[in-house]
Amino acid sequence: MSPNDHVPLDELADQAGRVRVAVIGGGIAGLVAALECTKVGLQVTVFETSGRLGGTVSTVELDGIRVDTGADCFASRGRLARLVDELGLAGALIAPATETRWVVGTGGGEDAAPLPEDTLLGIPENMFGHEAQAILGTGGTWRAYLDRLRPPLTIGHERRLSVLVRTRMGQKVLDRLVAPLAVGVYGAEPDDIDVDAAAPGLNAALTRTGSLSGAVATLRAQRGGSAIRSVEGGMSRLVDALEAQLRAAGAEIRVATSVSALEPPGDRWTVRAVDEDLEADAVIVATPEASARALLNPVVPTLDTAPSGGIPIETVTLVVDAPGLDAHPRGAEALALPGSRAAAAALHLTAKWGIGDGRHVVRIAFGGPDTAPATADLDDAAATEMAATEAASLFGVAIERVRAAHRARFTLAPSHAVTGRRRLATQGRNAIEAVPRLAATGAWLSGSGLAQVADDAAATADRLRRRALFSD
Ligand SMILES: Cc1cc2nc3c(=O)[nH]c(=O)nc-3n(C[C@H](O)[C@H](O)[C@H](O)COP(=O)(O)OP(=O)(O)OC[C@H]3O[C@@H](n4cnc5c(N)ncnc54)[C@H](O)[C@@H]3O)c2cc1C
Repeated sequence: MSPNDHVPLDELADQAGRVRVAVIGGGIAGLVAALECTKVGLQVTVFETSGRLGGTVSTVELDGIRVDTGADCFASRGRLARLVDELGLAGALIAPATETRWVVGTGGGEDAAPLPEDTLLGIPENMFGHEAQAILGTGGTWRAYLDRLRPPLTIGHERRLSVLVRTRMGQKVLDRLVAPLAVGVYGAEPDDIDVDAAAPGLNAALTRTGSLSGAVATLRAQRGGSAIRSVEGGMSRLVDALEAQLRAAGAEIRVATSVSALEPPGDRWTVRAVDEDLEADAVIVATPEASARALLNPVVPTLDTAPSGGIPIETVTLVVDAPGLDAHPRGAEALALPGSRAAAAALHLTAKWGIGDGRHVVRIAFGGPDTAPATADLDDAAATEMAATEAASLFGVAIERVRAAHRARFTLAPSHAVTGRRRLATQGRNAIEAVPRLAATGAWLSGSGLAQVADDAAATADRLRRRALFSD
């Protein structure tokens, strides 16, 4: 049957109710994909290996405070923004009180300064702004200004972020403004970031305006302000609402149930799970890359076997007494100049979201591109101690007491801003979807970030449900 064939709607609904889809992975990708499948009446079973849904989205109670230990916010756009509405959570959204980031390790007297707000990928619109000058110093500022005097055609269309910035504005802009953000936000060195993927239109605007700072100004004006949001009470409320909606739609959810293998159709897929196998008409794999490849490689002959890798990171979330933090001395986040500290960054969740009730909640991140987390070989007590020391150094305050700590390990999926990532992901996806009634989604294919993950999961589920209903 093809989508063009005329099928009476009642018959189509009956048909949908006989199709079972297995969704493997209960992170945001899996939950969004599962929900899309239930919307057309498919029967859905979700498998999640851990004891809880949500994956990287996790809220825990620390010293009586609900705290996000993974993703703490999302870009409010696309499928995710609509979903929040559908789930009745729009009224629970909160905007950050501050998004200011500081960079620490600049050397000199202060050793820390706020990143200017008028930047794109850390590239300043105005290098003479007070904040940019404080970080760049006089020499660095004047070198950056050469950008305004230099004809754009001396470098042409340059896709490597590092080369573009160094050539136009000099090494200090690259090292002190661009690199901390690239590593902290994209998890990638500027050398590995493709300007056309990270900031589409920047190169064209450079040619039009005649300078990189002019191009930044143009793109910033077109894009408008950022709209990141969180959920009051923690991001896990989003997961809870998704779970409730799935259960109401009749989905079966099996937590603490790892899927170890997929066996290809015969007539149906066999999903090998620890407790009980499942026969399914269609399968969506929504796990992180390593487990996705373990499941997919045996059944997708053309899937490239070389892992593209993610970045191991650890976070230690602390509830602390630190009166020095009352004034929010480093805004929402302090980013270490790469290599200058054991930690990569410290997030002040109390400054950003107003949580803490007199105490302060901070989250220290360790590890980055080509840098294993400094906490990797430490036990929990030693990792907590290192996190408190790094928090004191990055925020420039004394930490008087650690009331509670939570440690988590993640693998950060590569961003699509990394050179070649989007092409690799498309190749992988094409190979997977060439197999009948099989699909995959998740951050390793969509790029890291909840908004992208949700968009991709919904689009992937849409393609699969068409194939499952109109049989490919
Ligand atoms: C520390 C950190 C902070 C972040 N902060 C933000 C943020 O503030 N905003 C933002 O937009 N993005 C953020 N991100 C990125 C974002 O959280 C992720 O891109 C997104 O959550 C990934 O969702 P996912 O469903 O693809 O994967 P995951 O969340 O990793 O979910 C995959 C699930 O699959 C399960 N699984 C694995 N193997 C199996 C198996 N064999 N059988 C069954 N289940 C299996 C796992 O247990 C897991 O629950 C952050 C990422 C990290 C690491």
